[in-house]
Amino acid sequence: MKNFHTIIIGAGPGGLTCATLLAKQGHNVLVLEKNQRIGPKICGGGVTWSGLTQHLPESLLEKSFHEQFIFSGWQQVKISSPQPIISTVSREKLGQCMLKQAIAAGTQIKTGTLVRKITSHKIITANGEEFGYDFLVGADGSSSLVRRFLKIGTRRSGTGINLEVKGDFDRMEWHLNTELLGSGYAWIFPHKDHASIGAYAYSQAIKPATLLKNFNQWAQKRGINLDKLRPKAALINFDYRGWRFNNIFLVGDAAGLASGYTGEGIFPAIISGETVARCIMDPEYDITKLKRLIRRHQAHSLFVRLTSSNRLLCKIVTETLIAALKTKIIHFSALEMGAKE
Ligand SMILES: Cc1cc2nc3c(=O)[nH]c(=O)nc-3n(C[C@H](O)[C@H](O)[C@H](O)COP(=O)(O)OP(=O)(O)OC[C@H]3O[C@@H](n4cnc5c(N)ncnc54)[C@H](O)[C@@H]3O)c2cc1C
Repeated sequence: MKNFHTIIIGAGPGGLTCATLLAKQGHNVLVLEKNQRIGPKICGGGVTWSGLTQHLPESLLEKSFHEQFIFSGWQQVKISSPQPIISTVSREKLGQCMLKQAIAAGTQIKTGTLVRKITSHKIITANGEEFGYDFLVGADGSSSLVRRFLKIGTRRSGTGINLEVKGDFDRMEWHLNTELLGSGYAWIFPHKDHASIGAYAYSQAIKPATLLKNFNQWAQKRGINLDKLRPKAALINFDYRGWRFNNIFLVGDAAGLASGYTGEGIFPAIISGETVARCIMDPEYDITKLKRLIRRHQAHSLFVRLTSSNRLLCKIVTETLIAALKTKIIHFSALEMGAKE
C-alpha cells in the first residue's frame, strides 16, 4: 500500500486549493476524483467581487456585471457599483485552471477514481486500490463520504436547479418570488454564449419536485421557454458542524459551508480548503478568515430558518430586505459570503 502525507477526496475548488498549498510546501499529496474530467459541476458560476473575482485572472471571467437587478412580488431594484459586483465563470475552465496549478505544485491526481471506503488510516477505491494517509481531507461535496465516516449527518440542505439556455443575455437578475420559492430565488446569470437560469430553495421548506414545478411556473410567467431543455439539480449542504476532527478535515460543501440563503459555495470551498492546508502545516495557524466566513454562514442559516417558518413572515422580511437595498440601508455585499464585516 502506498502512503501519502495527505489524501484529499474530491477535486472541486476546495480540494484543489488545499492540494496546491500542501504540495507547494513539498508534502506528498494525493487527490482522488471520481469523475474523469475535473471542473464540470451543476452550478450557476456566479462569483462575487468581495469573494473571488478580484483574485481570478481576467481570462477566467465570462461576463462581469456592475449592475444587479432584483425583483420581488412588490418591488424591483437596480444595484450599481463602480466595481463589478458579480462575474460569471465556467466551472469547467475554473476547474482546469486549478488542476494545472495543483499539478505544477506537485500534487498527484487520480481521476475516474471513486473512493468507496475509509478506515482510520487508509482509503479504499471502488476498484480495490488502497492508499494510506497521515491526514485525510473530505472535499467530496454535499454527499460527502468522509462526513459519513465521521458520523456527521446532514439535516439542512438546499436544492439548486440549473439550465444552460443558449443566447446572448445581458442582465444579471435575481427573482425573490416568495410565493413560489419561499426564502429562495430564481436567477439569470449570463455567461459568454448562454445564461445559467435556475432556482435555489431550502429543501426542508420546498421539496425538490415542488421546486422544479414552481421554477417552471416562474419561467413561464417570465416568458422563458425551457421546453426542450433538461434541468439538472443538486443538493447544497449547509449543515455546518465543524471542519477539524483530529487528522481528518472537511472543506466546502462536505463541511456544509455553502450559504443556506443564496447557495454560494465556491468561495467558502476555497477559503476552507486554504485554511485546512495551512492548519495541517501549522496547527497554530491564525484562522480568522475562516471564522469570519463561519459567522456569515451562521447569519445566512438563521435567516433561512427564520423565514422558512412562516410564509407571511418570509414575504415581509424579503420585501423589507429589498427596500433596505433600494434605500442603501443595506449594501448588496451583505448577501455575499466574502463580505467584509
Ligand atoms: C444549481 C447550483 C447552482 C450553484 N451556483 C453557484 C454559484 O453561482 N456560485 C457559487 O459560489 N456556488 C454555487 N453553487 C454551489 C457550488 O457549486 C458548490 O458550493 C461548490 O462547488 C463546492 O465546492 P467543493 O469543492 O466543496 O465541492 P464540489 O465542487 O462539489 O467538488 C466535490 C468533488 O468531489 C468528488 N467526489 C465526491 N465523492 C467522491 C468520492 N467518493 N470519491 C472521489 N471523488 C468524489 C465530486 O465528483 C466532485 O468533483 C451552486 C450549486 C448548485 C447545485
